[in-house]
Amino acid sequence: MIKFLDLQKINAQYEQELKEAAVRVIDSGWYLMGKELESFEKNFASYCNVDYCLGVANGLDALRLIFKAYLEMGVMEKGDEVIVPANTYIASILAITDNNLVPVFVEPNLETFNLDSDLIEAAITSKTKAILTVHLYGQNSIDVKMLDICSKFKLKLIEDGAQSHGAKFQGKISGAIGDAAGHSFYPGKNLGALGDGGAVTTNDSKLASTISALRNYGSHKKYENKFQGLNSRLDEIQAAFLDVKLKYIQEDIAARRKVANYYLENIKNSKIVLPLVLNQEGHVWHLFVVKTEKRDELQSYLAENGIQTLIHYPIPPHKQPAYKEMNHLSFPITEKIHEVVLSLPMSAVMLEEDMRIIVDILNKY
Ligand SMILES: *Cc1c(COP(=O)(O)O)cnc(C)c1O
Repeated sequence: MIKFLDLQKINAQYEQELKEAAVRVIDSGWYLMGKELESFEKNFASYCNVDYCLGVANGLDALRLIFKAYLEMGVMEKGDEVIVPANTYIASILAITDNNLVPVFVEPNLETFNLDSDLIEAAITSKTKAILTVHLYGQNSIDVKMLDICSKFKLKLIEDGAQSHGAKFQGKISGAIGDAAGHSFYPGKNLGALGDGGAVTTNDSKLASTISALRNYGSHKKYENKFQGLNSRLDEIQAAFLDVKLKYIQEDIAARRKVANYYLENIKNSKIVLPLVLNQEGHVWHLFVVKTEKRDELQSYLAENGIQTLIHYPIPPHKQPAYKEMNHLSFPITEKIHEVVLSLPMSAVMLEEDMRIIVDILNKY
């Protein structure tokens, strides 16, 4: 069987270095908020080319903490609105509602799957304070129009960079394009820990300092609590693992692009619509997502032929039981996307032989 994603194989590439990192942390006797975190924060900030990086417990917390900090700073208040794509992973929405802010959904572009900047202005009200844009599937979602709208209406631009480590827009790396960004290091993400992990990147010193307290009980100084914070820290052992894997991120991106280009050049089937790439540098291929009218039929056909696929995502946030108050809303493009998308196997460790088999089976469908 060709797996959708083989995490064992991905981490086996760095087995020796990961083991050394684990031993170093175990022997150090120091497991939180120490040298390993400091080193990874410095290296990831430098990779993204931003002034500040703060390691946190996971990607959802990274986004939650950005909004929580803006509330503490008086940049936003309860009930303010945040524009967000209607077709995103639920975490983007949870980060907003958990802070008593209001998500205002905007439809994506059907071809790029990303927030349609032509539709943003119509959704802005006097309560709009930010855009949370999601670089879905690894493709940069920011364009000149979005930046212009943010400066015209004085909105904060927050990036959900969970899927887009290393994607570029106008030479800037995802995480350095907006005012702040949340990153996830969930094991299956392009830069994955061996457990949960996340980070916030920003050039805003006030935001960085507020989040550095909020992630640690609201405290800059032990037992002095400035804010009602959270416990959301990135473990030393995960920071040490991430430091190992960060060194290879460019090779990983290059390998993903190779798989994507192979699919793009060789999948030839009128029933399958390939993803649109606006710019090579702007896409790091967290997922390779095709569209097809009879999606479940294609998925079963591939499964019968030994190819594992996944659906990102089967139900949009506004149709989830968790958001009953939004269930009546209608976003036809978003709902259509959820019906037709299918994610093909994609990773930096895919064998050429597997790519050939997948293309061959798809072309025979
Ligand atoms: C994975 C993901 C998150 C959340 O990250 P976790 O580390 O799992 O909390 C947020 N947004 C998007 C778009 C994601 O894909």
